[in-house]
Amino acid sequence: MLIDPPVSGAAPPASLYLHFPFCVHRCHYCDFSVHRTSRAPVEEWLECIGIEVAQWFERVGWSRPVRLETVFVGGGTPSLIGGGMSHLASLLDGWFDRTTELEWTAESNPASLDVAVAGSWRRAGVNRLSVGIQSFDDRVLRWLGRLHDAAGARQALDAARAAGFEDVNADLIFGLPESVPRDWRAEVGRVLEAGVTHVSAYGLTAEPRTPLGRRVQTGEIRMVSEDRYAAEYLEAVEALVQAGFVHYEVSNFALPGRECRHNWHYWDGSPYLGLGPSAHGFVGGTRLWNVFRWEAYRRALADGQSALEGHEMLGAGESRLERLWLALRTNRGVAAGDPLLDRLVLSAADLLESWGDAGWVHRDEAGLRLTAEGWLRMDTLVAVLGGRMGQHESGEDPREGDGIRESDRA
Ligand code: SF4
Repeated sequence: MLIDPPVSGAAPPASLYLHFPFCVHRCHYCDFSVHRTSRAPVEEWLECIGIEVAQWFERVGWSRPVRLETVFVGGGTPSLIGGGMSHLASLLDGWFDRTTELEWTAESNPASLDVAVAGSWRRAGVNRLSVGIQSFDDRVLRWLGRLHDAAGARQALDAARAAGFEDVNADLIFGLPESVPRDWRAEVGRVLEAGVTHVSAYGLTAEPRTPLGRRVQTGEIRMVSEDRYAAEYLEAVEALVQAGFVHYEVSNFALPGRECRHNWHYWDGSPYLGLGPSAHGFVGGTRLWNVFRWEAYRRALADGQSALEGHEMLGAGESRLERLWLALRTNRGVAAGDPLLDRLVLSAADLLESWGDAGWVHRDEAGLRLTAEGWLRMDTLVAVLGGRMGQHESGEDPREGDGIRESDRA
């Protein structure tokens, strides 16, 4: 590949994302970059990451060591790295300065996480563990096609604690077809009993390229109704907030002080480096992404080429819309004094007032943010606000074509 992004001389990012693409089995709803294998080629993946890091330092001209504040190893199934995490730590130490405040998160699947793996990660420097439990109901886990059962989910969370992890996230999926029996509220309760410090709750989506997406298209599976989806989301919000969790982003909840700093760097527009197949980065004001598939990624690097597939710089209007979208997805919202808030008020005061009456937005001396009800409709609300700002600048009547519906949801 002959991608030559305009990043020469860019400041080094303090955040690093690494994509580990291997899974033993592909879940029928998953459209991530996943390479199915019973034996993950950990050494080969580490070699590729090493080549990519060297390419980046040469491409931009960074000098070693670059100071890191956050590292996130996502997947795929990073727990298949097992004891290889210490090799990753050594590799990173050749290029980066892992400060004492470093937040190092790694994702794991209960089927491949035990005390031995969790302990070896802790010793390697991982200090935040994310466990993909998804559900505490065997019927749901079978329907999702996960390799673990409810007992395995609990054992994985216990292993995380036994290994000394103080920051533990549990991923949950809601919004399943109504034909799948479950007691969602009870499952949220069981996550709370397990003593996690962070919960990520994601609504199931039927992506077109997945087996689930195809079965939905043929009518074989009917996705959840908007009302049920919203009810489950709001039930989780209520239970978690009552238990003392801060709902700090559309899908994320944390006990005070336990928020994921790495994700905050995405949302506040900080630069980050993404390595591994399909990984995205943001360096020198340029968005960059790698080839999607493991084989193409591995081959490119083995041939001495770059794994980058593309890059883009956003124009002023696109950047403003993206900043609005990123700000409104968190509980910080758009702060008072931010010129973006002045633009919103100038172009959409009537909408902000009626959405405030509907309970979708909250405005006070700190600024403007969406409520949980607003987050259910976030994509539509942001699109309408973006349209209003564009119309305002071009002198059109800003109230035409808002297209908002009572039932729109994120
Ligand atoms: S374990 Fe995660 S990454 Fe792997 S196939 Fe399932 S959903 Fe996708």
